[in-house]
Amino acid sequence: MLSPIPISALQHYIFCPRQCALIHIEGLWAENRLTVEGRTLHRKAHAEKVGPRGGGRAESRPSKAVPRDRRIRTVRGLLLCSEVLGLVGQADVVEFHVPSDGELAPDQQSTPPPARAGRSSSPPCSAVPTVPLPIEYKRGKPKRHDADLVQLCAQALCLEDMLHLAEGSIKAGAIYYGATKHRMDVDLSPNLRARTRAIVAACRAMMESGVTPRAKRERKCSRCSLLDVCLPDATAPSVSASHYLNRAIDSR
Ligand code: SF4
Repeated sequence: MLSPIPISALQHYIFCPRQCALIHIEGLWAENRLTVEGRTLHRKAHAEKVGPRGGGRAESRPSKAVPRDRRIRTVRGLLLCSEVLGLVGQADVVEFHVPSDGELAPDQQSTPPPARAGRSSSPPCSAVPTVPLPIEYKRGKPKRHDADLVQLCAQALCLEDMLHLAEGSIKAGAIYYGATKHRMDVDLSPNLRARTRAIVAACRAMMESGVTPRAKRERKCSRCSLLDVCLPDATAPSVSASHYLNRAIDSR
């Protein structure tokens, strides 16, 4: 059996493999404003009770593409795992959509055509399919990289594994961005699924190697909560000790 990787590690890996290794191999963590705001938003998302139609929160309301007569049950903080991929995590919100009668085949509708003599007029509950739709909450706005999309797709892959759904059954998810207060629908396409599996494999290989990649100073480092632990100005392969010390003295 594969040793489980946290779904959050995939996002760290896409942002910076070294950050992922510092957190998940070396067990380091540091907070900055962005991580605190993100954690607060996740806590809020998990706090509401299970209920229909997102408990009335505006950001949880389904997009206009969802028919209004669809029944929706909302589950918050659902624990996730996939034995096949070796992933564990927690979904902020999963909506379980029961398709409206208009979307169902005649033999699945709750008000089917009049029954013929000797036949039941309503299908068993298990005949009505429910479609899970994972929703991830993010504090910021859509990013240039695809870390949020990969994280959401990994959640969908876990749900398919846990619920014994065929690969590709969950066609869409959504990401709610706090900065824009917008819920973005995400197509869980074959390309995104392949990209997610590739990131899982690369992240696993790095974690099993136990080797933390060397630092490389980039613009994103200024947003990284581990900047003071990583010290990219001191530890990058191209930086000599004397060069680092000179820069440190000059900056005073
Ligand atoms: S400071 Fe830069 S190199 Fe270091 S972990 Fe963060 S993003 Fe990666």
